[in-house]
Amino acid sequence: MEDMTNPTGPRLPSRRDFLALGAGAFVVATVPLARSRRSRRLVRRQVPMMGTIADVAVVHSDPRYAQGAIDAALSELALVERTMSRFRDDSDVGRANLVAASAPVDVTEGTAIVLTEALRWADLSDGAFDPCLARAVALWDVGSRTVPPPEAAYTLYAGRGLHRALELDRSGGHTRVLFHEADIGIDLGGIAKGYGVDRAVEALRSWGIHDALVNVGGDLHVLGVSEDGDAWKVGVRSPTNPSGLTTTVRLTDRAVATSGDYERFFDRDGRRFHHILDPATGEPRRSANHSVTVVADTCMTADAAATTVFGSPRPRAVALLAKAAPHTELLHLT
Ligand code: ADP
Ligand code: MG
Repeated sequence: MEDMTNPTGPRLPSRRDFLALGAGAFVVATVPLARSRRSRRLVRRQVPMMGTIADVAVVHSDPRYAQGAIDAALSELALVERTMSRFRDDSDVGRANLVAASAPVDVTEGTAIVLTEALRWADLSDGAFDPCLARAVALWDVGSRTVPPPEAAYTLYAGRGLHRALELDRSGGHTRVLFHEADIGIDLGGIAKGYGVDRAVEALRSWGIHDALVNVGGDLHVLGVSEDGDAWKVGVRSPTNPSGLTTTVRLTDRAVATSGDYERFFDRDGRRFHHILDPATGEPRRSANHSVTVVADTCMTADAAATTVFGSPRPRAVALLAKAAPHTELLHLT
């Protein structure tokens, strides 16, 4: 953990400074609102979304216009949830998981983009990131379980490289999904939230918004500057102390995502069983660390990157990021 008493570092924010709640990264207020210029007002809304809280904040002189832009951003997030959730039979992912082992399934452009990027991370990570593990993820169900499933049940998925048996057929101007292995189930839980955040940011941009933030459960993207005119101040939550920060950083037009073992897990016999699986073993990935935070140009990249390198020692994580997404940066590994 970094030393927050370092005199050259930022001051430790108090709890009241937090502008955005969620796991992983936050945005921290820098100037009391009363001191910010009247023409630059921060308008902000938080709603439940994607199993967590979506927090959208817009800096604008007209609060009603800002609310309209926030509506548009939240609609994009809702659309991504509706098309990419594996918990709905009528989403692209739900329909593919029901049918694609026997017949091709049409998916929307957004899902095609996310699947393509997910397969790119799968290739570059030699399968450490695998978007086809929905069945193993459901089997482990770490949110409800208190004991691991039977070994024979999860070793069924070990070392299968299931992502290699997912076909995206792009002929004819649209994308169809086909499974060449019956055990494939698509799960975009490691990447779709980041894509949703980027789509929400695009919606804000199309409304002419220059300064904003979108944060969905700690996966965030900041646009321009905060209401005080300075770069947004983003803090990374400590995995061991939920009200503490491990580090803060000033960001403009960048995205941040965190993956960790401290949000969804159960502990059993001295081992932590969390929600990121090692496709080589079919079990939760062994890790000496509890969380990793990645900064990137897009939140989809940051999200996929953090899920992929979680559990890797720093040099290996840095090498993979350099190969997969050159403009990313490992902000924190703890
Ligand atoms: P969070 O939802 O907390 O932001 P992450 O972005 O770290 O989580 O992604 C974790 C999710 O990714 C899991 O809940 C699961 O849906 C999915 N997943 C688990 N293991 C893998 C893996 N090896 N590759 C890709 N996705 C995975
Ligand atoms: Mg992720």
